[in-house]
Amino acid sequence: MYIDSTRGTVYTVFMYPELYSTFIFGVFGLIVGSYANVYILRLHTGKSTGGRSGCMSCGETLTYRDLVPVVSYFVLKGKCRKCGSHISHQYWLVEATMALLFASIGFYTQFISQGIFSAWLVTLLVIITVYDIRHTIIPNEVVYTFIASLIAMHIYILFYIPTSAVLPYIFNVVASGIVVPLPLFLLWLVSKGACMGFGDIKLTLGFGLALGIYNGLSAVFLGFIIGSIIGVGIITSQKLSYQYFKRGAQTIHMKSEIPFAPFLIAGFLLVYIFGFDVIGILQSITL
Ligand SMILES: [Zn+2]
Repeated sequence: MYIDSTRGTVYTVFMYPELYSTFIFGVFGLIVGSYANVYILRLHTGKSTGGRSGCMSCGETLTYRDLVPVVSYFVLKGKCRKCGSHISHQYWLVEATMALLFASIGFYTQFISQGIFSAWLVTLLVIITVYDIRHTIIPNEVVYTFIASLIAMHIYILFYIPTSAVLPYIFNVVASGIVVPLPLFLLWLVSKGACMGFGDIKLTLGFGLALGIYNGLSAVFLGFIIGSIIGVGIITSQKLSYQYFKRGAQTIHMKSEIPFAPFLIAGFLLVYIFGFDVIGILQSITL
C-alpha cells in the first residue's frame, strides 16, 4: 500500500489490476517453465513426455520439494539429492525466463484470453529456443503447432469481422505468411541450405502470421541484428583465445554451428510483447 501525501489518496494494488495479472502470469510462467524443461529433455528420446520427473543420472524420482521452480535448484546447490550429480542450468534458466516473459505478457495484455494465447505462443518459442541451442535443429512438431495455433486464431477472428472484410483479411494473412519468411528463404536458396535450416523459414512464416508484414519483417531484421552482434562476438572471442592463448579450437563457424532460431525468437519477442519498432526507430534516425 502506498500513501500519496500530496493528495492524501490511498493507493492499493487493487487500483492496479495489471499488477495482479503480472503476478499471476509470472507464477504461471514458473510452473509452465518447469513442464517445458521436462518436455524439451524428453522430446525425441523415446521417453514419455508426461509423468513424474526423475534425476537424469540415477533416475531418483523427485519429490515435491525438489520441484519448486528456480528455488529448488539453488536449495539443492545444482546437485541431485541422492547421487550428487550436476543438474543442468537449463532448469532454472528456462523457469526464470518464462516467468519474466509471462509476467510481461500479464502486464501488457488487455484481455485475459489474449494473454493466455500469447503465453501459449511464447511457451512454444521457448521450447524451440532451448531445443535449437541443444541440438541445432528446430523440432517440426513444435514449429508446426506454432503455425497451426496462429491459423486457428485467424479463423476464429474471421467469425467476428464483417463479411466484407473477410477477403481482405485472408489476403493480408496469406501475404504476411509469404513475405515475412522471404528474406530467409532467399538466403537459403542462394547458400543452398548452408546458411540456415529450413526450420528457421517455417519459424518466420509463423512470425508473419502473428505480426503481419511490417512487424514480422521488423522482427526478422531485429533477429539478424542480435544474431550478428552475438555471432561475431562468439567467433571473435574464439579466434582471439585461439590466436593468443592457443586455447580451444576454431570450432564455431557462422553456418550451421550457431543456432539461429534463438536470435530470431528474441527479435520476435521484442516486437510481439514489447512493441519494439526497429524500422520506425531507424527511419526517425535517418530522416
Ligand atoms: Zn541423481
